[in-house]
Amino acid sequence: MNVLIETKNLKKYFSAPSGILHAVDGVNFQIPKGSTLGIVGESGCGKSTLGRVMLRLLDATEGSVLFEGKDIMKMSRGEMKHFRQKAQMIFQDPYASLDPRMTVSELIAEPLVSNHIYKNRADVYQQVRKMMDTVGLASRLINSYPHELDGGRRQRIGIGRALILKPDFVVCDEPVSALDVSIQAQILNLLMDLQDDLKLTYMFITHDLSVVRHISNQIGVMYLGKCVELAPAQELFENPKHPYTKALLQAIPMPNLSKRGKPRQILHGEVSSPIDSGPGCRFAARCPYAEEACRRETPVFQDLGASHFAACRLCGTSADKA
Ligand code: SF4
Repeated sequence: MNVLIETKNLKKYFSAPSGILHAVDGVNFQIPKGSTLGIVGESGCGKSTLGRVMLRLLDATEGSVLFEGKDIMKMSRGEMKHFRQKAQMIFQDPYASLDPRMTVSELIAEPLVSNHIYKNRADVYQQVRKMMDTVGLASRLINSYPHELDGGRRQRIGIGRALILKPDFVVCDEPVSALDVSIQAQILNLLMDLQDDLKLTYMFITHDLSVVRHISNQIGVMYLGKCVELAPAQELFENPKHPYTKALLQAIPMPNLSKRGKPRQILHGEVSSPIDSGPGCRFAARCPYAEEACRRETPVFQDLGASHFAACRLCGTSADKA
């Protein structure tokens, strides 16, 4: 397995008025070159913070991120400049992330200009035209402003901006959440085509498990800063182990009416505080299988075989079948 980027015991804590917020707490995974890791979890689970630490937009509190074997937290200025070109981000809200005073060509050209990666104005123009074609933006839109375009086209600008520096690794932070369902499919297909054509490696962050099913090779499920389950995509959907993953899967709307009558597991209870989290399972307050020991002992992130990992005391026991 040719790993492009990996995390080792990665932690990111923030100081809050009432204590220390454990936004990312000991996350470990590897993303092979040319593959996609989907990161799923509800709002506030730390998935976007994880994406930002992976790009060193935020410094880690502890642990490391290795890009092509080098720890990005210890890179020199020159190495960091190279890394910044090779690792890019696509943002959730294309409208908020684009300067409304700039035209499409200026927006896509900006990373080239600010990194001085062009020969002359004609070269910039040529690269922008080529990128517009790559991301499916008609050339007649080159002088348009973001407010003149729909959400799908605005997100295509965001993708063009991320890809113009020819990165190897792209963090896609909820790239389709702000779009209509019909446009979501277009953007997902575009991202998958671009991955094939440009040999990109993605980390795809979303709160919606159904979105990552087809785009991901492996999926990590996060809960309150912890990765509670990690598995190949098909395995996670067919054989989920963690009670939280099972609840997320059951929450996916069923297009097949004949299957709608099946009882679903509804999670009750409050989400625990991520501030000054003590020992014990962070999901215990909402877990239907929680026992006293779950509140005392932090579950180990166990290797269950077939590249499947989960952090639950019941994994591998008979209650696992529940
Ligand atoms: Fe539920 Fe206990 Fe497993 Fe946590 S360790 S998910 S509380 S059964």
